[in-house]
Amino acid sequence: MGASSIPSFVGGMPLHGSGARFETLNPATGQSLAAVWDANAADVEAAVASAQQGFERWSALTGTERGRVLRRAADLLRLRNRELAELEVRDCGKPLQEALVVDVQSGADCIEFFAGAAATLMGAQYPLKNAFAYTRREPLGVCVGIGAWNYPLQIACWKSAPALAAGNTMIFKPSELTPVTALKLAEIYLEAGVPPGVFNVLQGRGGTGALLAAHPGVAKVSLTGSVPTGKRVMQTAAGTLKRLTMELGGKSPLIVFEDADLEQAVAAAMMGNFYTQGEVCTNCTRVFVQRGLADRFLARLKERTALLRVGDPMDELTEVGALISAAHADKVMDYIGSGLAEGATLSFGGHRLEITGCDGGSFVAPTIFSDCQDHMRIVREEIFGPVLSMLVFDHEDEVVRRANNTRYGLAAGVFTSDLSRAHRVVSRLKAGICWINNYNVTPIEMPFGGAAESGIGHENSMVAMDHYTQLKTVYVELGQVACSYR
Ligand code: NDP
Repeated sequence: MGASSIPSFVGGMPLHGSGARFETLNPATGQSLAAVWDANAADVEAAVASAQQGFERWSALTGTERGRVLRRAADLLRLRNRELAELEVRDCGKPLQEALVVDVQSGADCIEFFAGAAATLMGAQYPLKNAFAYTRREPLGVCVGIGAWNYPLQIACWKSAPALAAGNTMIFKPSELTPVTALKLAEIYLEAGVPPGVFNVLQGRGGTGALLAAHPGVAKVSLTGSVPTGKRVMQTAAGTLKRLTMELGGKSPLIVFEDADLEQAVAAAMMGNFYTQGEVCTNCTRVFVQRGLADRFLARLKERTALLRVGDPMDELTEVGALISAAHADKVMDYIGSGLAEGATLSFGGHRLEITGCDGGSFVAPTIFSDCQDHMRIVREEIFGPVLSMLVFDHEDEVVRRANNTRYGLAAGVFTSDLSRAHRVVSRLKAGICWINNYNVTPIEMPFGGAAESGIGHENSMVAMDHYTQLKTVYVELGQVACSYR
């Protein structure tokens, strides 16, 4: 076990729980980072009770009061950007140069956005005959957030900020692979003035998440994870008919027409496949390029990919870091093997890398497959690693049909200089988020969520507030009860 230990955080205090522990590893070295206290059923009960108590106090504040506290939390996150980014990198293996500008900052942006939004929640008034009605937007109660391991702190912020802004309390369960920064967020919320019990963290594995999803004291579950986990959580939560937000996996298309700006399209394809080692849900892992541009696109893609610096994630020059675990690297290599076996052309990478000073780390070279066919496993299944599959198309109708030929529907991108075509194609794509002439840009102001099996509901933007509130309708009589009886 590593030197330190990572507890849960309940009622404003660390909770070490029953004594069972598991290790969390540094993906770049394979070395133990810390022992994590595994929350059991009793800990889940304690967290729900604490969040219920916190709810009484927190939901009684005005939106302005809640917003003021949340705003301080956003400031504290920014103040500790480097410290938090370094912790995140040690826990999840992504390059520090990314974590310094994205992970903490986007979390802070999110909290700042919802801090401002907290005071704007309102209902409507409905004039009626001798009466009127009005609606109130009320918090749901205790909400559960369950996170994936690729953007641990950002995910914790994306879930907790709208939840807390609307007056709910939250129990957040980070992925067992990345337990570190959610705990830091809990400490920061407390320091900012969020009352004890309002934001709790339960460390644990899938079983802890399942206990939370089943608990009758929980009103809502927001999950970021894979489609199979999403389906399991939905089944579990159905027992108590909880509200759900599901941010799940994808196999998203990027469509590059012949009239696209080549350099821009190549840049987007690289960002949408190799950022965070390819461990990004919205990644455009199916890159469809129109035939007339295909050879030039592939040549430039290879040239620029060859310049990527894969290395120690803590080195600020590193552009591609370590995959989350040895098991995950094995899975990615297995997909690369299947791409070869099914006849795709390996145009770049396709192998593991040894990084000096990072013995025991799980590094896979950025990988490009060309000559891909729609039926191949690498084209159909989510790999969640740095593996790009390039496909060639001839016609607009053809590419729309092929792009939509998936059970996923998270994201899509279109590169073209013909704006009419861009909007026409986007309107036909089965995807929750579409980018025209860019990819993977997710500002907090914009709704984020998937279609089809990629998800239910949205995070970010004012739309997220709808998912953390319920509407109460109040009828007010100004006349007499219309009584049919004597
Ligand atoms: P998993 O689905 O394996 O796990 C997600 C979370 O759910 C983890 O905290 C996990 O705990 C927990 N969990 C597992 N089983 C259960 C259960 N039965 N009940 C409740 N909770 C459970 O996903 P990964 O962590 O491997 O993340 C990768 C996946 O997440 C990819 O499919 C990716 O596309 C998706 N993702 C989606 C995003 C989006 O916004 N759409 C963003 C980022 C990732 P534990 O870790 O302990 O197993």
